[in-house]
Amino acid sequence: MNLEDLGERALIERIRRQIGEHGEGVVIGIGDDAAALSPSPGRLLLATTDMLVEGVDFQRSYASPRQIGWKALAVNLSDIAAMGGLPRYALVSLGLPETTPVEEVDELYEGLTAIAKAHRVHIVGGDTGVAPVLTLSITLIGEVEPGRLVRRSGARVGDVLAVTGSLGASAAGLAILNRGKGDFDEWKELIHAHLRPSPRVIEGAVLARLGVHAMIDLSDGLATDLDHLCRASGVGGRVCLSQLPIPEGVARAAAALGAEPWRLAVSGGEDFELLFALPSHHVPGWLVELERETGTKATAIGEVVDAGMRVQFVNAQGESVVFGRGFEHFSQRVGH
Ligand SMILES: [Mg+2]
Repeated sequence: MNLEDLGERALIERIRRQIGEHGEGVVIGIGDDAAALSPSPGRLLLATTDMLVEGVDFQRSYASPRQIGWKALAVNLSDIAAMGGLPRYALVSLGLPETTPVEEVDELYEGLTAIAKAHRVHIVGGDTGVAPVLTLSITLIGEVEPGRLVRRSGARVGDVLAVTGSLGASAAGLAILNRGKGDFDEWKELIHAHLRPSPRVIEGAVLARLGVHAMIDLSDGLATDLDHLCRASGVGGRVCLSQLPIPEGVARAAAALGAEPWRLAVSGGEDFELLFALPSHHVPGWLVELERETGTKATAIGEVVDAGMRVQFVNAQGESVVFGRGFEHFSQRVGH
């Protein structure tokens, strides 16, 4: 059966059953004109939204409905994490071709509800409609204690710049997928990193509690996102390419693709790691504490410098390296 046969009302009922019971703080969930939510006293609400469009942000040829559903929420979770907040409620808007099989919608919601459950997010509403290609837009509402809110704009000259996890796996995975030749099994970790990213939600909350000065999630690539952070803070940044945490698999994939590993790590997007600035006297202390609490390593990659120095990437010899920036909608297209 496809959506034409099922009809919208039955589809919504089906989705509602799949999402299940109302969660904590949900006074009214799916089924009325709007959701009614009970915010925690004294907290700020955080709201973010992100849209994935078939053919632009993903290809149906390699992304399963489950992965698309997972990733659509993951990218929003990453934005709430970057503010130091905890995600709470999601609204899901879904545009679908009429010929879409109903099972694909079920699978998409399986991916969505799997990551929602993992982060204790409740889906409280949304919209469905006909669209020429699969389009998935999620609005995510989170909360943060006012004193824990972390912005992009707080970096100070002399701070250390650090990132959680590792860089380049998602871009390498995407490049392998786009190359399209069948040896996907060999690269499954990289492909997994691209199709099913793990947002750093707990890590963001711990870093906020420790008191990092500024934070942003890496969605558009280190070069672009560091530029956002530095501009917002009115500072410059210097990153040492030899310090970037690039996994061995990324280096191998880069060799197979004829690319340089650091280029995947710097210009490739969608790692969904956190980039943050912290006082230098708390390195390595806060990084050790983060790993102890979350199991996630973070790596110092550079320092915050005077605004006049802009954003610089230097090699092991200290020479400045120039290259294209990461992904920007409406300007250049990197791989997607
Ligand atoms: Mg972001």
